[in-house]
Amino acid sequence: MPSKIPTGLVFDDRYLQHNSNPLRLPVSKEPLPFVEPVDHPSNPRLVERTMKLLGMTGLLDDLVRIPGQRATEEDLLVYHTEWYLEHVRSLCAAGGGDAGAGAPVASDSYEVAMHSAGGVKSAVDAVMKDDVRQCYALVRPPGHHAMAEKGMGFCVFANVVAAAHHARKVYGLERVLILDWDVHHGNGTQDAFYADPNVMFISLHQDRWFPPDFGWIDQSGTGYGTGYTVNIPMPAGSGNVVYTAAFDEIVPPIVEQYQPELIIVSAGQDASAWDPLARMILTTTGFRMMTRKMQELAAKVCNGRLVLAQEGGYSEPYAPYCTMAIFEELLGRKTGLEEPLDPDRVLQWPSINEISGDQRAMLDAVRAHQSQFWKMG
Ligand SMILES: [Zn+2]
Repeated sequence: MPSKIPTGLVFDDRYLQHNSNPLRLPVSKEPLPFVEPVDHPSNPRLVERTMKLLGMTGLLDDLVRIPGQRATEEDLLVYHTEWYLEHVRSLCAAGGGDAGAGAPVASDSYEVAMHSAGGVKSAVDAVMKDDVRQCYALVRPPGHHAMAEKGMGFCVFANVVAAAHHARKVYGLERVLILDWDVHHGNGTQDAFYADPNVMFISLHQDRWFPPDFGWIDQSGTGYGTGYTVNIPMPAGSGNVVYTAAFDEIVPPIVEQYQPELIIVSAGQDASAWDPLARMILTTTGFRMMTRKMQELAAKVCNGRLVLAQEGGYSEPYAPYCTMAIFEELLGRKTGLEEPLDPDRVLQWPSINEISGDQRAMLDAVRAHQSQFWKMG
């Protein structure tokens, strides 16, 4: 890849003010005697450590800093209801609580979540206005589980949903692709666009993990949206080779036929081998591969226009290195920084170097299902 693609970063210190700790684990209404609570997995340190790593390695110097904006209520009402916005606002005003199903908020969270959604919107603006060609929104809280009327899975507002609507409304786009490689299924994003052919949703996630009733192969859209939702449910234990096969055999033919005018990636680095909240075995090599593939596709179909929005990723030691690997790939340069966890240890696991029978069967089943809608090569 060319090494000098103008690349933006949206980050705001405010994102660190969203505190999930009102629901520290173990989650219980009563304090458990003799059990020391641990921090909530979706805590500010992941993003903070990522920023520090970008600074220490000098990658930050190569990035164009894009100021994040605050989303407006109108931006979020494209999907969320008035009731839900008011619900989160009043919950925060009262000191915090759960905005739905496992979406803890504290007093600052309403405003921070508005800025998180606005950060992805800013990344879209920067790319659509040609300030940069590609842009990473290092935001929190994440958004892809948030549903119209409830927060879910640490997500408060549907950041990429609002950003895709913004791209359509302000820049007149007719086809936007959202590819979600977070290990959990982007159920909110799927729900928002399930009947909408103007936004395609492709998700790679751990099969029947979270939420377990979303992300099945045969969930492929409804009405005019039929064929514009693509679910690739990876069996637990999938690693670099299985993801590579999905990015070789399934993603490119569909994306090249759809011809999106903008690509947004829901980038959660929780399919890593060390993530506490899933059971996949990607290493930084896998995240580099996925980034490269999306850059190549963006170059082919939409003049390189690529936005990445932070979703999950919970291994404090490793996830920041996965995100840094994505930045290295975007910028076309390696820092040479050694990873704290030896990837060679994972590379010795046989399952990382071969595609098992159930993994091959899943890839073939997705191809067979999608061939109703697309030429699968
Ligand atoms: Zn996730």
